[in-house]
Amino acid sequence: MPEYNAPIRDMKFVMQELLDCEKHYQKLGYTEASVEMVDAILAEAAKFTEQVVAPINQSGDEQGCTWNNGEVTTPDGFKEAYQQYVAGGWPTLAQNIDFGGQGLPHSLNIAITEFFSSANHSFAMYPGLSHGALATIEEHGSDFQKNTFMPKLVEGSWTGTMCLTESHCGTDLGMLRTKAELNDDGSYSISGTKIFISAGEHDLSDNIIHIVIARIPGSPEGSRGISLFIVPKFNINESGEVSDRNAVSCGSIEHKMGINANATCVINFDGAKGYLIGEVNRGLNCMFTFMNAARLGVATEGVAVAEASFQGALAYAKDRLQMRSLTGVKNPDGAADAIIVHPDVRRMLLTQKSIAEGGRALISYLAQLVDIGHASTDEAEKAGAEAKLALLTPIAKAFLTELGLESTSHGVQIFGGHGFIKEWGMEQLMRDAKISCLYEGTTGIQALDLLARKVLGSKGEILKPFGAEVTAFCMSNKDNEAMQEFTQPIMLFSGDWQKMTKAIGLKAMENPDEIGAASVDYLMYSGYLTLAYFWAKMAKVAQDKLVAGEGDSAFYQAKIKTARFYFKRILPRANGHAACIENGAGSIMDLDTDDFAF
Ligand SMILES: Cc1cc2nc3c(=O)[nH]c(=O)nc-3n(C[C@H](O)[C@H](O)[C@H](O)COP(=O)(O)OP(=O)(O)OC[C@H]3O[C@@H](n4cnc5c(N)ncnc54)[C@H](O)[C@@H]3O)c2cc1C
Repeated sequence: MPEYNAPIRDMKFVMQELLDCEKHYQKLGYTEASVEMVDAILAEAAKFTEQVVAPINQSGDEQGCTWNNGEVTTPDGFKEAYQQYVAGGWPTLAQNIDFGGQGLPHSLNIAITEFFSSANHSFAMYPGLSHGALATIEEHGSDFQKNTFMPKLVEGSWTGTMCLTESHCGTDLGMLRTKAELNDDGSYSISGTKIFISAGEHDLSDNIIHIVIARIPGSPEGSRGISLFIVPKFNINESGEVSDRNAVSCGSIEHKMGINANATCVINFDGAKGYLIGEVNRGLNCMFTFMNAARLGVATEGVAVAEASFQGALAYAKDRLQMRSLTGVKNPDGAADAIIVHPDVRRMLLTQKSIAEGGRALISYLAQLVDIGHASTDEAEKAGAEAKLALLTPIAKAFLTELGLESTSHGVQIFGGHGFIKEWGMEQLMRDAKISCLYEGTTGIQALDLLARKVLGSKGEILKPFGAEVTAFCMSNKDNEAMQEFTQPIMLFSGDWQKMTKAIGLKAMENPDEIGAASVDYLMYSGYLTLAYFWAKMAKVAQDKLVAGEGDSAFYQAKIKTARFYFKRILPRANGHAACIENGAGSIMDLDTDDFAF
């Protein structure tokens, strides 16, 4: 397994130099979140993930979880690592102080989430699900529910799940069959079977709090008849402690392609006691709180795996000797040159680097928007942040996970045949990465959310706040000669983005399939352009630092050179997507379903 070193220098660059997190935190009233505190938390998270979480990644993959008569055992070391995670106060970091949290900004938590996920995707998912459950209860739960369930979830002694999927419905949740019948005491009796429930059963915590969607008899069919419930594995007594077992059981766990150390469970609810969250039939709306938090978490997984794979590939590329450089011998004392001299290997490494670092900037920016949504008292600022988040969340989720997966493929490729061998750990990263393109809405579904629901659904209005920010950045640099190589392509691609949006809208009036045919290409185009903006912003900070002569010039030069690589070798991919969109739905839809194979 490649050794993991948390990218603290780059995280600080993004948080402090690019996004001025201290000013951002002070403005929002997070007065404790000074640069010193951010540095200390990043350093501690780095130590914990490098020394405790990463070392059980490969062994966890090999051993996997085991199911025995409804009990799930996580791989060796997971329980101890989770206990240390709780003892270290990590689950409490960004949680509400009224329920035992430290009240620090969400963006700080999202930053360290990347470290956890790079170090061990499977491990990071156990607490990751709890964050979504907490957000849902905090936003939609009653005082009784908050007081009963939040403190232990915040502390980490209980964990959470998200129970949506059933065997016949994943994307189309309106088809769900799980039933919720009202009991005399106001609670509900939940019956049905959910599948693919991450962290649905395990041995890490004293209780598991399932957040479950179900239909109350008599509710409308489809997604308008879905309600949301809290269903604990163990019931809670009056003093708030676990008591008898609720009628919730784990029927089996899946044997799967990756994230083997995270238990993916069939969960049976056999008349289990549950508590309604929010209003009857408003379950999907409440669930969006969970899903939005989770989508940003999954987008972070894309960046995390790109980083982990890049680190492994870079070390190998400097060490592995094969063939000579095309421009003459670079390692005269060796039998061959290190493979990092070869342009194709450098192309792959720089692709990984530009995805990881560009993605980190995008995620950190989105994380600050989440902070604003939570803590700003300025309604206009809040609305602006929420509009940008609505636009950029599906882009980040789908684009960064697809590119994260691509990055792991480059990681394997750089290792040559050795990349295919388990021992090196590069193939595990590729297997683990694929799930991020699937759960929390597949790439195709994120693309439909972006193009159909958000962009065309708002008649393009949703593009405006972020579009205005990008334009303002380019305009503010219009007299800066050194920035033209970045700002000019951005203006060009932005203009085409708007024209393309209009053209799809017009075609869709004639044929709605034009939307589905364009959607993934549209999302990828939007992703390449969005990342270009963040690379341009990073290049600008680096240029300014070099001019100011503050030192660390190698780091800033590398930023500018990587930005240049992104603009020359990655951004042009957007042209391919634009061409596909322009070619329309015809060639996709013309072939008769019966004629796909003979
Ligand atoms: C390891 C793992 C962990 C998971 N964890 C959880 C969890 O914790 N909780 C939970 O509730 N679920 C979980 N899931 C379920 C996951 O969210 C679903 O698998 C996912 O949403 C897709 O649903 P599906 O598998 O039923 O695919 P389907 O919905 O059957 O989709 C199949 C294909 O059709 C495409 N498709 C469907 N509808 C459309 C459309 N309208 N337009 C275009 N394309 C379409 C999809 O993009 C996909 O490519 C997990 C799954 C796995 C494998």
